[in-house]
Amino acid sequence: MNFENTMEFAKSEDEKDILKIFRSQFYIPILNGKDCVYLNGNSLGLQPKTAQDSVLDEMEHWANYGVEGHFYGKNPWANFHEACVKKLQPIVGALSEEIVVMNQLTVNLHLMFTTFYWPDNTRYKIICESGAFSSDYYVIDSQLQLHGLFPEDALIEVAPREGEFIIRNEDIISAIENNAEEVALVFIGGVNYLTGQFFDVKSITNAAHKAGAYCGFDLAHAVGNVELKLHDWEVDFACWCSYKYLNSGPGAVAGAFIHHRYVTDKSLPRLAGWWGTDKHERFQFKRAFNAMPTAEGWQLSNANILSMAAHKAALDIFEKADFENIVAKGKKLSAYLLFILNEINQSASKELVQILTPVDAQEHGCQVSLILPENGKGFFDSLNRNSVIADWKEPGIIRVAPVPLYNTFEEVFLFGKILKDFAGTNGNG
Ligand SMILES: *Cc1c(COP(=O)(O)O)cnc(C)c1O
Repeated sequence: MNFENTMEFAKSEDEKDILKIFRSQFYIPILNGKDCVYLNGNSLGLQPKTAQDSVLDEMEHWANYGVEGHFYGKNPWANFHEACVKKLQPIVGALSEEIVVMNQLTVNLHLMFTTFYWPDNTRYKIICESGAFSSDYYVIDSQLQLHGLFPEDALIEVAPREGEFIIRNEDIISAIENNAEEVALVFIGGVNYLTGQFFDVKSITNAAHKAGAYCGFDLAHAVGNVELKLHDWEVDFACWCSYKYLNSGPGAVAGAFIHHRYVTDKSLPRLAGWWGTDKHERFQFKRAFNAMPTAEGWQLSNANILSMAAHKAALDIFEKADFENIVAKGKKLSAYLLFILNEINQSASKELVQILTPVDAQEHGCQVSLILPENGKGFFDSLNRNSVIADWKEPGIIRVAPVPLYNTFEEVFLFGKILKDFAGTNGNG
C-alpha cells in the first residue's frame, strides 16, 4: 500500500472509508476542552450512543412486567442472551451452540479450567506465554494449587529469545512437542495485551492436540479486533471480555466458547448452577442437574440483563458494519501507524521509536506497542496535552490502538505529528 505521512492523504483515506459513518454513533470523550483522540479502545471501548436506550428499555420492561419480564414482552429475559450469541458468531467464528454470554472473563477462565484441566501423575503441565496478563497467571497458579501442584514444576512459560520482544511461534510449538508426554493444557493469550502480538491460534491448537493436550485461549485483546475461526481451528475453549474492542461498557458481561465436540457431553466435570440445567426443566427445580447440550450448560446464574442490554446494543453496530470490514480497516489503520513510525525513524536517521509489535499483518491486530528509548514519559505527557488518550505501561511501553469503528486515519496522522514535533523540540531528532 502506498501511504503518505500527510494530513491530505489521511483525510482522503477517511473520505474513502466505508465505515466512516460509524464514528458518529459513539460518544467521544472530551479532554482539555475538545474531542480527544481516543487511542485506548483496547482498554475500554467507547460508549455506543444506542447503549443507554437499550439499558433503559430493560429498566422499563422491569417496571412494566416485574418477574413476568423473564417470559413476556419484546425481549424476554430468559432468552435475552441468544441475541448476543447470534451477533458474536461472525466475530469469534463459532456455531451458536458453542458460545455462551455470561459472568466475566476471569470467572469464565476458572470455569473452563475446571472442565479442561485434569492433571494426573504424568500429564499435568500447563504451557503459557511469558508476559501473560496478571489475571491469567493468577488463574493458572490457583488452579495448580487446587490440584496440589506448583508453578515451579507444573508451569512452562515460553519466552522471547534473548534480545527479542516477540515470542516465536516455532518456540511455542517446540515447547509443546518437547513436553508432549507431560503437557495437559496449553493456555495462551490470543493477542498479548502488552506487545499486541497475535499468536497463531490454529497451529498452536494443532500442536497441543497432537501432543494429547487441551488448548484454550484468553481472547481479551483478540475479540472484535482480529479474525477468529474458533470452530474451524478446533480450539477447545476460549474466553473473552466485552468492554475492550466490543465496546460493551465497564465490567460488561463476558463470553466463552466451548467447542461443539464437548457441549453435549453431560459427564464433563464442571462447576454447575441452576441456569446451566436444561431450560425446559429449570423452573421445575429438580434435584438432579441436567446440563443443557450447548455452551449454556456452563451457565451458573440468571443473566445480568442490564449489562447484556448494553452488550447487545454494542454488538448491533458490529453486525451493521460487518466484521470483515472492521478487520480490514483495523489492519489498514495499524499499517498506516507503523508506516508513519518508520518514516519518523528514517528521517531522524536513528531509532527514535522502538516498535514492539510484530510488523507482519498476520501477527497483530490494531494495537501497536512502542518504546521511546529517550524521554518516553515526556512524549506521553505531550500526547495528553494534545488531547490524545493512549496507554502507558511500566517500564515505558506506550500502547496505541486505532480502533476501526471510531478512529480515523487523520487521528493516526496527528499522533505521528505530535511525535515528530516532540522529537524536534526535545533535541531527540
Ligand atoms: C483485560 C484482561 C483481563 C481482565 O479480566 P476481567 O476478568 O475482565 O477483569 C484478563 N486477561 C487479559 C489477557 C486481559 O487483557
